[in-house]
Amino acid sequence: MSDSGHRVAVIGGGVAGLTAAYELTRQGVSVALYEKEQTLGGLASSFPLDDGYLERYYHFICLNDHEYFQMLEELGLKERLRWRLTKMGQYYQGAWYSFGYPWDVLFFRPWGWAEKLRFGLRIMDIKRQPAGAWRAIEHRTAEEWLIDQFGRRVYESIYAPLISLKFGPYAGRLSAAWMWARIHRLGKSRTRLLQLEKLGYLQGGTQTLVDALAERIRRQGGVIHTGRPVEAILLDGGRVQGVRFAGETIPYDAVLATIPTPYLAGMVHGAGQERLAGLNNIDSIGVTCLVLRLKQRYSPYFWTNISDSRIALAGVIEFSNLNAGVCANGDHILYLPQYLPSDSPRYHLADEEIYQEYLGYLRLMRPDFDASWVRAWWVFRDQYAQPICTTGFSQQVAGMVSPVQGLFITDSHQLYPDDRTVSNSIGLGRRAAAHILAERGKDGGD
Ligand SMILES: Cc1cc2nc3c(=O)[nH]c(=O)nc-3n(C[C@H](O)[C@H](O)[C@H](O)COP(=O)(O)OP(=O)(O)OC[C@H]3O[C@@H](n4cnc5c(N)ncnc54)[C@H](O)[C@@H]3O)c2cc1C
Repeated sequence: MSDSGHRVAVIGGGVAGLTAAYELTRQGVSVALYEKEQTLGGLASSFPLDDGYLERYYHFICLNDHEYFQMLEELGLKERLRWRLTKMGQYYQGAWYSFGYPWDVLFFRPWGWAEKLRFGLRIMDIKRQPAGAWRAIEHRTAEEWLIDQFGRRVYESIYAPLISLKFGPYAGRLSAAWMWARIHRLGKSRTRLLQLEKLGYLQGGTQTLVDALAERIRRQGGVIHTGRPVEAILLDGGRVQGVRFAGETIPYDAVLATIPTPYLAGMVHGAGQERLAGLNNIDSIGVTCLVLRLKQRYSPYFWTNISDSRIALAGVIEFSNLNAGVCANGDHILYLPQYLPSDSPRYHLADEEIYQEYLGYLRLMRPDFDASWVRAWWVFRDQYAQPICTTGFSQQVAGMVSPVQGLFITDSHQLYPDDRTVSNSIGLGRRAAAHILAERGKDGGD
């Protein structure tokens, strides 16, 4: 390994930032990574539980998460990957339905036979479409396109609640392309035979990946700072000069920002900052998530979607139905996420209020549920949890090589029309590193 003298700052210690730092230090680049939290991992970070860790948010892996598999191979972690056939549920107007197996749709009472047949055929067709088929529909709203595909009753019974619970006030502007990509991706996580849903998890959770990346970065000569934010990215003459950290200016040849773009827009100072004005147009919604450790199982499903106007949860995710060993003593883990704009008063409710309200939802859905089942609970929040991909979004996507020389950007919105995933963030980190290396080559840094 040779230090070329080219110095790179990576801002953000989530999966994208860690991947980029790993890749750059592997190529002999001098890297300092800055993470504002005490712990690494970003949206995929964890907290200590029993003898291991529990993720703040659930993370499942799909059969087509190829960037993830490649990284696990490189880090010697492939044997930590586990797969399981999972069940999906639908809670519709006070009743539970199984909704994971293709034949389940036949027993979904709210739909007529013609709707069931059309639903099955359209899903099969979308799954078979080529990867670029979204381009033709990206200017349509998800609502318009879904009604065209499945009919109004199917839309209103399952898709309208899903979109509204995930995107709140932005739901009406969501691009059809985002919805298309979601159906397409999950379709790829089904077995060929019988089309059963097969999902994966990493033993030890995503922390296993985060720890291994951090260990490699340090071993390859990189430096990791945690527990303090980068305060500013400093420009001069349209070029990056460095970062301000802990009140000091530190010069860098290149800066890679892997933080949500709404943060980034306000952090860049100096001549040339106006070139990044477009970043202000990218919206993102926040999340509040209650995690429950239960003494007994709540449902047989890994994931339950909700169509009931009394319940504001984006789903009930019983993670222990994917990873039965998530708690050392066999306890059950439930994640209850609610997506909310971070300026809404509900985003700022006290933890105890959230706990009481969400427990009320669980009682509504299962009247014999009792608070005595709860052994422990936690509430987590993130201000920017999901970018909003509005119609015609491809015109708004920020380039990884920004208009400011020496500044590189990764953010989940660049995955459009695909959704944010750990696998996709690994891909973003790798591509950003490749751009920085190419730029270094041009500057004669090699
Ligand atoms: C509720 C929820 C469920 C999810 N479920 C799944 C799933 O099942 N499967 C899946 O694959 N993916 C899932 N994801 C998505 C996955 O977690 C993300 O796509 C991925 O972790 C994003 O990584 P990132 O590095 O791109 O961004 P982030 O994780 O957002 O990383 C950005 C980092 O920058 C740091 N930062 C911000 N400002 C500063 C600053 N000024 N200075 C220094 N550091 C700063 C932040 O603290 C953060 O650590 C889920 C996400 C959420 C919210």
